[in-house]
Amino acid sequence: MPTLSIVVPMYNEEAMLHLFFKRMSAVLSTITPSYEIICVNDGSRDDTLGRLRFFAQQDERIKIVNLSRNFGKETALSAGLDYASGDAVIPMDADLQDPPEVIAQLIAKWRAGAKVVLAVRADRSSDSWLKRVTANGAYSIFSRLSEPRIPRNAGDFRLMDRVVVDAIKRLPERSRFMKGLFAWVGYETEVVEYVREERAAGETKWNYWKLWNFALEGITSFSSLPLRVWSYVGFAVSLGAMLFGGWTVAKTLIFGIDVPGYASLMSVMLFFNGIMLIGIGVLGEYMARIFTEVKARPLYIVAETVGFDEAVDRAPQTYPSVNKTA
Ligand code: UDP
Ligand code: MG
Repeated sequence: MPTLSIVVPMYNEEAMLHLFFKRMSAVLSTITPSYEIICVNDGSRDDTLGRLRFFAQQDERIKIVNLSRNFGKETALSAGLDYASGDAVIPMDADLQDPPEVIAQLIAKWRAGAKVVLAVRADRSSDSWLKRVTANGAYSIFSRLSEPRIPRNAGDFRLMDRVVVDAIKRLPERSRFMKGLFAWVGYETEVVEYVREERAAGETKWNYWKLWNFALEGITSFSSLPLRVWSYVGFAVSLGAMLFGGWTVAKTLIFGIDVPGYASLMSVMLFFNGIMLIGIGVLGEYMARIFTEVKARPLYIVAETVGFDEAVDRAPQTYPSVNKTA
């Protein structure tokens, strides 16, 4: 019988755990008895870990990966994927915004042969107006810049076959923009639509500054266009400057020198200095990421695990293994 791994990154979710496990086990019991729920405690500051231990004691299928501090959702998810041993793996949020009831549909399409089954949001009515607008903007920029295409309105909620998870585990980068990595590995993909619910309890960990950085991460990890565009900008500007220079010389020869324009000089100078600083800033964004990659630190540190058998516990993890072979 094929086994199923649910991977859930958790940060300060103490208010959610009870609801989450209740609804989860209700749904999973109708699907298969052989599943595991891997809860990655991402350095929570509340009693998430204590309560997880309680639930893990009641049910051996609930397993804990306790990270040594808060590493962020994308990294926590990577850790969970490393520890998942199921034939199919489903990453989910702890807040029940990804309704467990959809899992049955995901599995049906997987059984029918799809290697990846994407859960795509049918609408974004549970989001605020501003979040909808910014998300839309971000997606349309991604779809223009990134190679391969990152599917619209799909989060991390999806089903992945074992082969897909193993492929993702081979990607060594430290910038873990998971949606992008999922898209990069490919495989035949099916889609299931669902309506995203409101967070059931607790509060969101996202704010607009984090979202902005998340978007930057996505763009810089999957496109080098912002880096390369500057040669073209420079070229266009030089061309314009040459034409303008020629025109100024001709004008001076024909009409003589008129009173020099402080205002126009000043605004042109400031404008192009601004453009140059933006160019340098973009270089900085990429360089900072190269710096992170070059340091080659392990992606996360596990303080403790609960409920895994030794084989899984000692299996080489994707990123630290880079160091092990050295
Ligand atoms: N999360 C995490 N580490 C973090 C922030 C969030 O593991 O640093 C988890 C969080 O516990 C939840 C999921 O990521 O399970 C999604 O977070 P949230 O619901 O706050 O995001 P939103 O749905 O509002 O985008
Ligand atoms: Mg949420």
